[in-house]
Amino acid sequence: MIITKKKEPADIVESLKGYKSVYLFGCNTCAEQCKTGGIEEINEMTATLTENGHEVTGYSLVDETCYEQLARREVRKVPAIKESDAVLVLACGAGVKTVADSVEESTPVLPALDSLYLASVERVGRFFEGCSLCGECVLTETAGICPHTECPKDMLNGPCGGVSDGKCEVLVENECAWTRIHSRLKAQGRLSQMTKFRPLKDNSIKLNPRQTLLRGPGSVAQKSR
Ligand code: SF4
Ligand code: SF4
Repeated sequence: MIITKKKEPADIVESLKGYKSVYLFGCNTCAEQCKTGGIEEINEMTATLTENGHEVTGYSLVDETCYEQLARREVRKVPAIKESDAVLVLACGAGVKTVADSVEESTPVLPALDSLYLASVERVGRFFEGCSLCGECVLTETAGICPHTECPKDMLNGPCGGVSDGKCEVLVENECAWTRIHSRLKAQGRLSQMTKFRPLKDNSIKLNPRQTLLRGPGSVAQKSR
């Protein structure tokens, strides 16, 4: 799930300066779970914008705002989107981009949220970053614990010198990621993975923008539009 947080209302109002009528787009998946872009937040945003002199012309709450077919279908179906001065999107940056690509070029599409990270969900409201989307996954060797993401120093080949009683020297409340990796590999009888050398990541494959085309498994190409 993509974790988002709400921008300050004053900043949103400032970004909408000069746009009287505003249409709202929420997202019924990640943003709804984060309590940043579901129906409650759409209602809250409607009240804030109305208090600040805007006319909210309607809202859409599609299942996945980052899914272009759903966004385009909504744009075709709802004339108010086209007729509004601006569209405000309560979804992650991918959702904002998708809506911006789906409306007319002349319609400003603005974000109401900041996108933070990709998370695993313990339960609603408890999210943990588990993957930084590096494109070269090492979880086979690290027992499902990502050293890129869970170690603040990005240590790929074992712990740094600062680990103390199994705790991280940077995030002192946390267990060191490598303590956990060691413990899990040991429980799995795979401690030999600890001595395996992992070369530096090839950051060239992280050049943005990335795009996966389903032409074949793992096929990745540069954005073409
Ligand atoms: S190594 Fe970590 S950051 Fe890279 S893909 Fe695997 S989980 Fe994600
Ligand atoms: S103590 Fe462990 S988790 Fe913390 S920075 Fe060092 S290796 Fe990474």
